[in-house]
Amino acid sequence: MSSTPKMTLEQELAAAVAMARACLDDILEAVGRSDRLGALRILRDHRKMDRGLLAAVAGIIGHITDAVDAADEHEGIAYALGQLDEAQGLVQDGAGERIDRALDYLAPPLVCQDCGRQKPDVQVMPDPFTVAIEPESTDHEQMTLCESCATAHFEES
Ligand SMILES: [Zn+2]
Repeated sequence: MSSTPKMTLEQELAAAVAMARACLDDILEAVGRSDRLGALRILRDHRKMDRGLLAAVAGIIGHITDAVDAADEHEGIAYALGQLDEAQGLVQDGAGERIDRALDYLAPPLVCQDCGRQKPDVQVMPDPFTVAIEPESTDHEQMTLCESCATAHFEES
């Protein structure tokens, strides 16, 4: 977003918030048409914690907390900062962990066929070993692997 000289900072922020709200409306509309798991992962993706809207909102709260901390030195500010920290934690972890649990229940993580562990990063994929050797082939065995076992397969090639 480029800032125009005519806009005050307040107007710029209001415009950014309006854009974010419009994007959220688009997401809401798309959620109505998509699968529920994908919709939950928009909020919180436990495979990539820094993605997801909850992480973004928690990040904004953290930035604002830092700004309040830097700007204000009056006594009692510690109380406000503590409340803001707690708000950030509730968004990031309180809400996030409940969504993780719901996702685990709705779609249990797959079990890696190599290490036998059930982890969120396990995916069904074409055999990384044969893909590395014959990338142009379309006839690869499908494997269920976690990220580290997939990397190990790839490196064996
Ligand atoms: Zn594995």
